[in-house]
Amino acid sequence: MIKFLDLEKVNNRFRKEIDERIKHILDIGWYLQGEEDKKFEADFAKYCGVKHCIGVANGLDALNLIIRGYGFGTGDEIIVPANTYIASILAISENGCTPVLVEPDNITRNINPDLIEEKITDKTKAIMVVHLYGQAVQMDKIWELAKKYNLKIIEDSAQAHGAIYKGKRTGNLGDASGFSFYPGKNLGCLGDGGCVTTNDDELAAKVRAIANYGSDRKYHHIYKGVNSRLDEMQAAVLDIKLEYLDKDNARRREISKYYRENIKNPKIELPKVYDENAHVWHIFAVRTENRDALQKYLESNGIQTNIHYPTPPHKQGAYKEWENQSYPVTEEIHRTILSLPMSPVLTDDEVKKVVEVVNAF
Ligand SMILES: *Cc1c(COP(=O)(O)O)cnc(C)c1O
Repeated sequence: MIKFLDLEKVNNRFRKEIDERIKHILDIGWYLQGEEDKKFEADFAKYCGVKHCIGVANGLDALNLIIRGYGFGTGDEIIVPANTYIASILAISENGCTPVLVEPDNITRNINPDLIEEKITDKTKAIMVVHLYGQAVQMDKIWELAKKYNLKIIEDSAQAHGAIYKGKRTGNLGDASGFSFYPGKNLGCLGDGGCVTTNDDELAAKVRAIANYGSDRKYHHIYKGVNSRLDEMQAAVLDIKLEYLDKDNARRREISKYYRENIKNPKIELPKVYDENAHVWHIFAVRTENRDALQKYLESNGIQTNIHYPTPPHKQGAYKEWENQSYPVTEEIHRTILSLPMSPVLTDDEVKKVVEVVNAF
């Protein structure tokens, strides 16, 4: 069986280092907001090229805290791609803001920059970009619009740790960025984790305080805050794995290149990339009219796949108010997309086998 993602194999590569660091944490007996957290925050901020990194409990909280930190709430609109994981949109709703959905372009499947301006109103406060499947959004036009209409740019970088657009990494392409360290992400911990990155001193201080019971110092509460922190063990694991992130992403690129050069089946449309550095291949998604049949065929040949995602946010029960809205590009993607195995621990033989089976379909 070729697994879609063999997490045990991914993490066992670091088993010795992880064991040692966790032993150290147990030895000193400090579990939250200690040296591991500080070290990882500094190292990840440096990696992204930003001033601040604030560890939080998960990726959804990271986005949520950014919106709250900017003070956006009821009556405010935030533009967000219609083709995304539901978390991007939940973070907007959770703050009482209105998510305004924009269709993706059919090549990158990221938000279509040409369709944003027509959705901007006097209530619009921010544009949330999602670097979906690991490919950085083409930001030029979005930077222009944000400047023209005085909007914040919030990045959802949960799928794109390390992707580079015009010399800058995700996490440094907008005003603030939310990352997830969910186990399956390109940089994943052993449970839930996330962070906010930003160059904005004021936002950083606010997010840090809100995430820690609204307190800027112990027993001094200036916001009605929440408890959303990255614990020491997760920070330690992330700090170990961060050293290998670029190498892992390079391996993902190698696999993606092999898939793109060798999958030759007229029934299957391959993902396109506008710049190899801009894509870290969190997901390798192909498209076919016969998606369910392809998935079954691969399964019967011992190859696990996944669908990212089977139902678009506007068709989910949570958003009944959108049930009559139509986003044809998004719907088409959800109907036809299939994610092939992709991870840095796939072997050459496994990648070759996937190609053979896909070509035989
Ligand atoms: C994973 C993911 C999130 C949420 O991260 P969690 O850590 O699971 O809360 C948000 N947005 C996108 C695009 C994701 O893929």
